Amino acid sequence: MNRFALFCLLLLLPVATIPAQEARLNVVVFGAHPDDCDLDAGGTALLFSSLGHRVKFVSMTNGDAGHYELDREALSAVRRQEAAEAGKRFGVTYTVLDNHDGELVPSLENRMQVIREIRSWDADIVIAPRPNDYHPDHRYTGVLVQDAAYMVIVPSVAPDTPPLKKNPVFLYSADHFQKPSAFEPHIAVDIGPVFEKKIYALAAHASQFFDWLPWTMGQLDQVPESEAERLEYLAKWRAAAPDSATRKSLEKWYGPRGSRVAHAEAFEVCEYGKQPTDEEIRRLFPMLQP
Ligand SMILES: [Zn+2]
Repeated sequence: MNRFALFCLLLLLPVATIPAQEARLNVVVFGAHPDDCDLDAGGTALLFSSLGHRVKFVSMTNGDAGHYELDREALSAVRRQEAAEAGKRFGVTYTVLDNHDGELVPSLENRMQVIREIRSWDADIVIAPRPNDYHPDHRYTGVLVQDAAYMVIVPSVAPDTPPLKKNPVFLYSADHFQKPSAFEPHIAVDIGPVFEKKIYALAAHASQFFDWLPWTMGQLDQVPESEAERLEYLAKWRAAAPDSATRKSLEKWYGPRGSRVAHAEAFEVCEYGKQPTDEEIRRLFPMLQP
């Protein structure tokens, strides 16, 4: 292709609008294992990154317990590589902290680490699981992030990293646990436009979705071989059809078209961070367009 043809082609390519520095949003998502942020907020992250905003995923553990053949050392190397590839596919920065899988505790040291991650990302939005969950690592990730909310603005705490000037909005990612209270989808994001991309990015965690999790369910023999069939398998398994409460939230944020959304991710506002008005939520989630 000659230079003129290349120039013409470039003119035809859609160019993502890069928001001005002051309008750029910084989003940080915490998960216990390398694949949790992806499952909880991967579609939303893809939408943020496609709009030119900055997203970071932080896995609180290195995921080194989730396999039936690989030992901890070999598995942690595999999972770190998979997370790096997933980060590329999602368009996010992916950090994997070196805590052992299955052994995360809400220690002061881990709290300081969470505070530093939020501050150094200059976060506007922080997303994490609720501390009600079947898995202790998920529960303690929720506790650690709750414990960091508010502390991120206190200069004397973790003084090696400058405090944030404003407390960010802290959000919980969705779950199905009912006690002591059910998850409330205050914000619901239509991820239909990026659902296939989310599945492709999730598939980077091959040791989880095609080895470990099917093995725990006694379904290892049902995992297909080819990449195309694996993506189809994962898309069926990880379809994110909204429940009735999420549907109501979609209708609130998207108007009538909210009733037709096929795949969604939802978030609940945590009481310990900034309490946003609806108008502020629309600014923080620019993809919520009727
Ligand atoms: Zn997990």
